[in-house]
Amino acid sequence: MEGTAAPSSLARRLRALDSRPYGAYRSLAGSHDLGIGKLIIDKVQVDPYAPPSLMRVVVAGPEIPAELTADRTGRIAAEDYLTRRLIAEIAKLPGGGRGIDAGRATQHILERTTIRIDQDVEIRLLVSLPASGRRIRGHQAARLLTEDLPRVIRAAILEADLTAMAAHVAHVRDVEWLRGQLADLDLVAFVSSGSILPRRSGVSDRPLPGAVPFSPPHSLSVSLTLPSGREITGMGIPEGVTVIVGGGFHGKSTLLRALERGIHPQVVGDGREFVVTRSDALSIRAEDGRAVTSADISPFITNLPGGADTTDFSTTNASGSTSQAANLMEGLAAGARVLLIDEDTSATNFMIRDDRMRRLIPERYEPITPLADRARELAEAGISIVLVTGGSSQFLDVADRVIAMRNYVPSDVTEEARGLSTPRPRPRPADLAGAAQRISQRVLDPTCLRARKPPRASGKTIRLGSETIDLTALSGLLEEPQTRAIARCLDLLATERASIGELLDDLEHLIDTSGLSALSDRPHPGLLARPRRFEIHAALNRLRSLSLIDHHS
Ligand code: ADP
Ligand code: MG
Repeated sequence: MEGTAAPSSLARRLRALDSRPYGAYRSLAGSHDLGIGKLIIDKVQVDPYAPPSLMRVVVAGPEIPAELTADRTGRIAAEDYLTRRLIAEIAKLPGGGRGIDAGRATQHILERTTIRIDQDVEIRLLVSLPASGRRIRGHQAARLLTEDLPRVIRAAILEADLTAMAAHVAHVRDVEWLRGQLADLDLVAFVSSGSILPRRSGVSDRPLPGAVPFSPPHSLSVSLTLPSGREITGMGIPEGVTVIVGGGFHGKSTLLRALERGIHPQVVGDGREFVVTRSDALSIRAEDGRAVTSADISPFITNLPGGADTTDFSTTNASGSTSQAANLMEGLAAGARVLLIDEDTSATNFMIRDDRMRRLIPERYEPITPLADRARELAEAGISIVLVTGGSSQFLDVADRVIAMRNYVPSDVTEEARGLSTPRPRPRPADLAGAAQRISQRVLDPTCLRARKPPRASGKTIRLGSETIDLTALSGLLEEPQTRAIARCLDLLATERASIGELLDDLEHLIDTSGLSALSDRPHPGLLARPRRFEIHAALNRLRSLSLIDHHS
């Protein structure tokens, strides 16, 4: 790489390129002095319509107290704080900062590659270099890179408010500490008093103004002192089977969606910043049409007409119930220990079967053992369920705890429900652990992940060769930067040959020890955000061309 040229020299070079063909921008690859720090141009786009250029800025300051970034949670929170400032400062530029992209500010806090705090602070950006037709606009480029960019970095990073950063870190540490406590307290989730759970609209993630704040029922109330010293009270949802009931529109699904979101910390002001769910929680829904490859769904589905083997079940077009059974069993295989289920997004025949129907259709003609019949067995195997239902009483019979939502206010109706329940006949026990193990021991044939071009993310889909992997049903997948990280994972797996369970472990280990940037082999990793192992697993499982090696032996 060439030496670092002086700041004025970059401006001069850019102005000299004015009106030249766009490709001449490529002469800028390398390192430049920005005055405030160093600009490294890693990759220059070939034309104005190509994906933007990859650039990094490395600055020495600010003096971030070592204590803030001493642990993983602290570093992620501190980097998140700077990323938010960076995005906000870019938005203040004329034209809303069109040209410089550091990602979008969302309410959830994820491990990201946008900013890396080390000895220095490294800022990773996507920059669209200005053009007029296919000609370089050199004066505009000089302004963008040598005036706007340094101004943004100075305001966002060098002049960062370290007190506010420390508060952000303390908040995320409180949340992660609370998450860590849940298992010890035999809880699967915590919803603090005063939380605002509903959102402004189906397309807005902002809290609903004027919403009824959450208030926990006395019997489920838990009080804790957070590491920051803050006292907090809320509803603890215990391990076991918890059924959330209530009339339509009384806030059941809203509560469940808040629990789904609670797997990641939220910013203060989200309304759900102290809704905290264990990190081994996973939403399980019906997803008809998805592909399934060699999944053992026999705990829920057996004796299919036609005799398909449901311990090794494959389909290119799963039904509602088989897709939900596959989602559940694959989730267990990836380590899910808390299942979040809403009847709104479930297949009825996967969930329940009523008594008259049992009498009408003899058991040997019914392939499905519904979840209501398996819920106790799951609980006894250490798998908790939080389930929303308005329509069926069958889950009352298997619930450890029943919470009723009335006008958005929860109450503990476990005793009343017990009075109404009737013991259920238990089905023949299933080999849940064995089935999950068979799924995680499937050996990936890596060649199925090889294509002419590396996998490419767009929204919640990934393009691999001629196939599009649809991840829109995954409530744990929040944004495109996570999909991009999954695409990177698939690319890395294209050279591995091991069981899918081991591959997931290896990927997590790689990210834990070397950071999310390790998913890329380039100095500029792109703008990635961390998915959980469940979402990576889900992408593999939804690959229609997934191929496995010797999985029968
Ligand atoms: P259910 O699943 O019980 O049918 P939802 O959770 O879908 O009900 O909620 C129904 C409506 O009530 C939604 O429009 C939601 O935004 C609103 N809502 C939910 N919780 C609250 C609350 N705490 N305060 C005000 N409105 C709420
Ligand atoms: Mg609902």
